[in-house]
Amino acid sequence: MLAERGRLEVTDVPAPEADGWALVATRAAGVCGTELHFLDAMFDPPAFPFILGHEAAGVVQDAPAGSGLSPGDRVAVYNMVGCGTCHWCRTGRDELCARPAGQLGFSLDGGFSDLLRVPAANLIPLPESVSFETGAILACSGMTAVHAARLAGVSLGSTAVVNGVGGVGLMVIQVAAIAGARVIAVADAEAKAALARDAGASDVVVLEGGLGYETLPERVRDLTGGLGADHYFELVGSGETMLAGLRSLGRAGTCTIIGYTGDDLVVSPVELILSELRILSSVAAARHDLETAVRLAGEGRLRVLVDTRYPLDEVETALERLRARQVHGRNVLVWD
Ligand SMILES: [Zn+2]
Ligand SMILES: [Zn+2]
Repeated sequence: MLAERGRLEVTDVPAPEADGWALVATRAAGVCGTELHFLDAMFDPPAFPFILGHEAAGVVQDAPAGSGLSPGDRVAVYNMVGCGTCHWCRTGRDELCARPAGQLGFSLDGGFSDLLRVPAANLIPLPESVSFETGAILACSGMTAVHAARLAGVSLGSTAVVNGVGGVGLMVIQVAAIAGARVIAVADAEAKAALARDAGASDVVVLEGGLGYETLPERVRDLTGGLGADHYFELVGSGETMLAGLRSLGRAGTCTIIGYTGDDLVVSPVELILSELRILSSVAAARHDLETAVRLAGEGRLRVLVDTRYPLDEVETALERLRARQVHGRNVLVWD
């Protein structure tokens, strides 16, 4: 947990009370770049001490009567705790809830803990064929990818460019391919090109060290018979990459922004209008996107890439390796 601003500590705390929610014995929790933002105090939790961890899976220990869950059930945890009653919650867009109670690992205690307190409605049953670590990773990058591809409307026979071959990018590549798209990945190193191909990309543009984005539109046109792409998914989010992505689109193409930096997107409306380009944004996911991700994993169609498994008391090592950009896929905390 974050003992204070920017300082991580593994320590004993009192077990949470269920108090109308469910209690889950955590079995796996993904270690995400978001945790580094907390350590760097770019984000702060509402209070200290605070338990991080927004991607978790485990075993139900206690669930309220009528929830349909029983002790021993294997579950993935949907981390957005919506109000359940606003227009957005009632229309399946929990990620846009107008009055959220909070988000596990961001504003409510999260999964870097033996025991996690969460509303029963946030628990998605895991099929036997889906491991806890897979369930945990689906609860962040997996559901995010499903959500983005669904909002963008990726369809059979379309072409999708995916810029960024990290945890979310590898998921977007797979999901777009499952939806029937031909996928062109953009990687910043040859080693990542191989990962992108494994995930289902039919072509990979390697821009070594992230340099040369001004050549991307031309290279995508070369790969698409001059048409340009139907979709561009942005996981990097610099001003330069977003513009290169827009210019890689064909007519009526859609740019979907998932990853971002502090950069602005600066583009002439004329450039957009003449080709009827669309710009979308996608944040996290609705609960049913996690259900979709779990189902696809259960069918063996969506795979996660685990880099290394760590026990909870080695969380700092996992984070240091993430900061040093040594992680391919996800580091996961695991409980025996
Ligand atoms: Zn995450
Ligand atoms: Zn709501």
